[in-house]
Amino acid sequence: MVQVAINGYGTIGKRVADAVSEQPDMEVLGVAKTRPNFEAETAVEKGYPLYAAVEERAKLFEEAGIEIAGSVDELVEAADVVVDATPSGIGAQNKDLYEEYDTPALYQGGEDAEVAEVSFNARSNFADAADADHVRVVSCNTTGLSRVIAPLREAYGVEKVRATLVRRGGDPGQTSRGPINDILPNPVTVPSHHGPDVNTIFPDLNIDTLGMKVPATLMHMHSLNVTLEDAVDAADVRDLIADESRLFLIPESMAIDGSGKLKEYAHDVGRPRGDLWENCIWEESISTVGRDLYLFQGIHQESDVVPENVDAIRAVLGLADAEESVRTTNEAMGVGL
Ligand code: NAD
Repeated sequence: MVQVAINGYGTIGKRVADAVSEQPDMEVLGVAKTRPNFEAETAVEKGYPLYAAVEERAKLFEEAGIEIAGSVDELVEAADVVVDATPSGIGAQNKDLYEEYDTPALYQGGEDAEVAEVSFNARSNFADAADADHVRVVSCNTTGLSRVIAPLREAYGVEKVRATLVRRGGDPGQTSRGPINDILPNPVTVPSHHGPDVNTIFPDLNIDTLGMKVPATLMHMHSLNVTLEDAVDAADVRDLIADESRLFLIPESMAIDGSGKLKEYAHDVGRPRGDLWENCIWEESISTVGRDLYLFQGIHQESDVVPENVDAIRAVLGLADAEESVRTTNEAMGVGL
């Protein structure tokens, strides 16, 4: 069993811990947190050994009556791999710690691409992470774009991608971002940073992205225009997308008209935390005009990168190839709607 450490136990870290614990070939060695709170309490209740991410603050856990298994150094030293899920920029600061103990590390999309040798998306470039010591699982938006671009490139060839990303203002629990009531061009400059980030996965892809932020917390929404190399029927694109395990084609019959109902559906089918690990693509939105393809997709920012982190662990440690890893992850978590 691969022993996985998770450093940073917030929105992404706690989900990755649960996903790892469900896998047949890996287990959670421990999770590191900076301070006691409800997430620390639930980590202990779930049986994840809790480590103090900042040694001087270990006593805060004791004062809160939460038992600590040790320091983050001990956790990193004992682990086969560490998933860093700390806030943007902190992962890069932690890199020395992982190098000190020669523990391979995964970082998240909030880090600059330079933090790692490879930026990772399981569907697009799994094999590139083999034997890498530092791998960055790309952001929720880049994951969502890469997953849909990869099959289009393989099937039809892509001349140009234009994507407008309508981004949620903050996560539901992220009170530091609110209260919010505005619509921001964000970033106001064009292209946004998302296109160059997708180029860390597909270096030769011609892509322009525009970003906005809106007063929503549930999901992001992408409006996508892809110019293909040949004219294609929309029905063929629908079939192509339906074959992809991490692309959920929302049937018209479900009458899901937005993020609110998507999240409601996720809760109804018993998804933990109402998570949607798949890109959610409206079937009726898939349209073609000559070589131009259009579609809308909802991206659940809190969870789409979670199965990708699990796959990145197998990729880095050489435990499986892409197909086997994605199948194992999907089966263990229940990915696929
Ligand atoms: P978060 O704030 O919800 O969680 C981060 C956790 O790390 C918190 O519990 C925080 O207390 C802890 N932490 C802070 N400093 C630490 C340190 N030095 N050592 C250990 N833990 C520390 O953040 P998040 O949303 O989970 O984001 C984590 C990373 O994932 C970021 O790079 C972010 O850009 C990326 N990401 C976030 C989302 C999203 O929508 N939330 C989506 C995809 C990727």
